[in-house]
Amino acid sequence: MSGLYLHIPFCKQACSYCDFYFVTRQGKKQDFVAELIKEIHSKKDTRYTTEIVKTVYFGGGTPSLLSPKQIEQILEAIEQVFELHPEEVTLEMNPDDVNKEYLADLRSAGITRASMGVQTFNQQLLNFMNRAHSKEEALHCLEVLSSSGIHSYTVDLIYGNPDQTLEMLEKDVDVLLGFNPPHVSAYSLTIEPKTRLGRQLELGSLIAPEDDLVALHFDLVEKRLREVGILQYEVSNFAKPGFEARHNSAYWSHENYLGLGPGAHSFWWNDIGQSAERWINEPDLNSYLSGGWENRAEVDQLSKHDLAEERLMLGLRTVQGLDLSNLEKQYDFKLNPKQEIYLHQKVKEGKAVFTESRLYLTKEGLKIADAITLDLLS
Ligand code: SF4
Repeated sequence: MSGLYLHIPFCKQACSYCDFYFVTRQGKKQDFVAELIKEIHSKKDTRYTTEIVKTVYFGGGTPSLLSPKQIEQILEAIEQVFELHPEEVTLEMNPDDVNKEYLADLRSAGITRASMGVQTFNQQLLNFMNRAHSKEEALHCLEVLSSSGIHSYTVDLIYGNPDQTLEMLEKDVDVLLGFNPPHVSAYSLTIEPKTRLGRQLELGSLIAPEDDLVALHFDLVEKRLREVGILQYEVSNFAKPGFEARHNSAYWSHENYLGLGPGAHSFWWNDIGQSAERWINEPDLNSYLSGGWENRAEVDQLSKHDLAEERLMLGLRTVQGLDLSNLEKQYDFKLNPKQEIYLHQKVKEGKAVFTESRLYLTKEGLKIADAITLDLLS
């Protein structure tokens, strides 16, 4: 089983924190769709079409800048080339693109799940993030979404913004919970170097919040969501039981996925399951439009050992954690005595649970999952 990721590289404007690949020119959308369909057809009868496709994810960029007709055309092409038995077809949307008709048409086109980029309901913070939507649009999109018939959806929330108080965050969470969402993805703001915020940080005109305050932000989000049955299942993801994202969960468990479109990432095991390849399509719309789909910006060959370490890292970010016997069976990987001593120490600190067959981090451990993995593997 595998997943498909489609990168739709258009945005209305550049959000101040974003380092994804996108362009703000809108003129080439139809050309892009035509080219994407050609790229899909170019995969016919290749190794990428030998597995049943269970999930499709339209990411970006801003996929909701495409029309339902264009989404339908893309899905039709996928059906012609891949063996599609969809359990989940997700489309990332921005609040300013969404209305009742748009959602109804997307549903008819085959979209079963929405990922809504709300981030905050606070107008001052929306301005700081340079989001294209307003507070009113953030409210409106959730109103129409909750009555759209698309029952599975997630709402993105960003906490840990400079000058964001706990009271401001609590208000955001209150408003969000008023819509009874089945899934929430909550991220602390990360300031990447090549973004507007990154430059401001470098120039000293922006001060990132203290880690302790960001930790309090996280605690507030986790507690409020838990109280209404939206439970953490990965470092940044929370869901009511049964609404966990299948596409993303497949990334964490190393299932094959193929990325199409400029800047898309892919992961594919080789034929004998001994190693895998991960690559990024060239993030260049112009090159893509002239047929450069095969151009890869980065290719990583991953040995079984690389994959085991990566699986450990991804698994420790999930509440479920890792099945250690599976790690040994699939990746020939066993924790060494030094790693076991380190993990027993984390157990004593209340940050991990470590038995013969299972390893997972507690709520406290998940807060520093990346640091624990780094210590474990270095
Ligand atoms: S809409 Fe999404 S992809 Fe586009 S700039 Fe903003 S965060 Fe980045």
